[in-house]
Amino acid sequence: MQKLKGRTPIRRSLWIVLSYLFVGWLWITFSDAIVAQWFKDAEALSLAQTYKGTLFVLVTGLVLFAILYRQLSKDRALLSLHARQRNEILRLNRFREKVIDQASVWINVLDSKGRIVLWNRAAEEITGYRRDEVMHSDQVWELMYPDPDVREKILEKVAEVLRNEDAMVGFETTILTKQGQERVISWYTSTLEGVEGDEPAGTIAIGQDVTDIRAAENTIRRRDRQLVTLMDNLPGMAYRCLYDEHWTMKFVSSGCRDLTGYDPEELLDNRVISWASLISGDENDRLVREVETAIGSAEPFSLEYSVDRKDGGKVWVWERGRAVADGDELVLEGIIIDITDRKVLEEELSVMATRDALTGLLDRREATRLLEEEISRARRYQRSLALLWIDLDHFKQVNDQLGHAAGDKVLCGFSELLSSRIRQVDFVSRFGGEEFIVVLPEMDVSEAEQSAERLRQLVASSPQQLDNGRSVNLTMSVGVAIFPDHGEDASALIAAADQAMYQAKAAGRNRVVVASPGNTGPTSLSK
Ligand code: GH3
Ligand code: MG
Ligand code: MG
Repeated sequence: MQKLKGRTPIRRSLWIVLSYLFVGWLWITFSDAIVAQWFKDAEALSLAQTYKGTLFVLVTGLVLFAILYRQLSKDRALLSLHARQRNEILRLNRFREKVIDQASVWINVLDSKGRIVLWNRAAEEITGYRRDEVMHSDQVWELMYPDPDVREKILEKVAEVLRNEDAMVGFETTILTKQGQERVISWYTSTLEGVEGDEPAGTIAIGQDVTDIRAAENTIRRRDRQLVTLMDNLPGMAYRCLYDEHWTMKFVSSGCRDLTGYDPEELLDNRVISWASLISGDENDRLVREVETAIGSAEPFSLEYSVDRKDGGKVWVWERGRAVADGDELVLEGIIIDITDRKVLEEELSVMATRDALTGLLDRREATRLLEEEISRARRYQRSLALLWIDLDHFKQVNDQLGHAAGDKVLCGFSELLSSRIRQVDFVSRFGGEEFIVVLPEMDVSEAEQSAERLRQLVASSPQQLDNGRSVNLTMSVGVAIFPDHGEDASALIAAADQAMYQAKAAGRNRVVVASPGNTGPTSLSK
């Protein structure tokens, strides 16, 4: 409190009285002499001497009035100031109590012996213990922290705060409420300062119920862990990228390493390479279009494409993702899975679907399709095309004499021989049991006849080796038909060649016969 300036009341009073006595003594001693000095006239002098006492009383009365008036006014001002201050303090106190009581955080104050002296409404709500149950006692702590070890630790902490006289923030404890529930409280605790120089008056503790926050955090952490496990075990990678021309990666899971050979960090923000540059140009354009369409119809997208690996290899991937808004930006999120094995299998299946199982040559259906393609190309460029129809001579005898397996072996050997002696643009097909066709694009009659003759001689002079060391001499009869001379379409051409082959058979086998222009159209000959 501010000290009163100047003299103490007793000194002040003494000083006033002494002053009065001194002035009185002066008056008594010198007033007669002074009056005699001033008034020479005897009548005036006697009048002055009669009234000087009255004058003195009047003057001292006036001075006393002035002093008393001043003092009483001051006292009165002081009193009303004090009253105002007291009201202000009361008001502040009420406000403080209201704030403390209505705060959503648990506030309690302990005295220096650890007894509760303040327990707000939030404390009641969180703990379930009413104010009147806990005030002026420390029993409630035993109920809220039933484990003595835990209690011990908390007490140590509180003692530490009292010793250090500084605040402790973020210390968490788990209390048992009156209803038997556990709640996690995060504490701000500090010493409550005593009046100047005194010991700390106690501690103030502000507790926030963070049970729900911690539970939510735990859920998020658990989900995060699950997500990481899931992503790390994905047979591919999860990603998040910008919807830009680079597919700029913003997140890439660790599976990226196995899939592409690049570390996730190398792809993030296109640091070493962008995802787009792992995709060949044409394919990327297609992907852009497909993603665009999906975004337009607010659907997820599924893409299949190949990616260049860091080691130069290629992987086939299947991507499934969707566009999501991230602030005012559009990002794509999804997974990319390695489907190379499936693709290889698909390719194998598609090859199998077009190949003859025994010899590996094109089967009849695929050969017919290719022949039709070649014919339309020849027609477009006004070129010729030759078709050889081959039937092995007396093949039945091979089976009869050496067995069916040996027959198969001979068919395979023959197929290899034929395949090894044709041009890149030509193709051979096993059309039936021991019947084959060879398609020779851009060949005229004489070239085709020469080629057929060369093949016939080759076969005749190349005995087929069997597993048992024996060999089989093989000959073939060949019919040659030329587009457009002997047929305008595939079936006409095949029929013409077939017919020419029969003529070769009829003429004694092991020979080449070119279809004659008159022999076009579906065959009418039969064996
Ligand atoms: P030709 O000179 O008149 O053609 O006499 P050929 O014995 O060859 O008579 P043809 O062409 O009519 O007979 C075909 C024979 O080819 C009948 C069958 O035993 C045999 N053959 C057909 N397909 C297979 C096969 O896949 N494996 C084996 N080992 N033999 C087959
Ligand atoms: Mg036959
Ligand atoms: Mg035959």
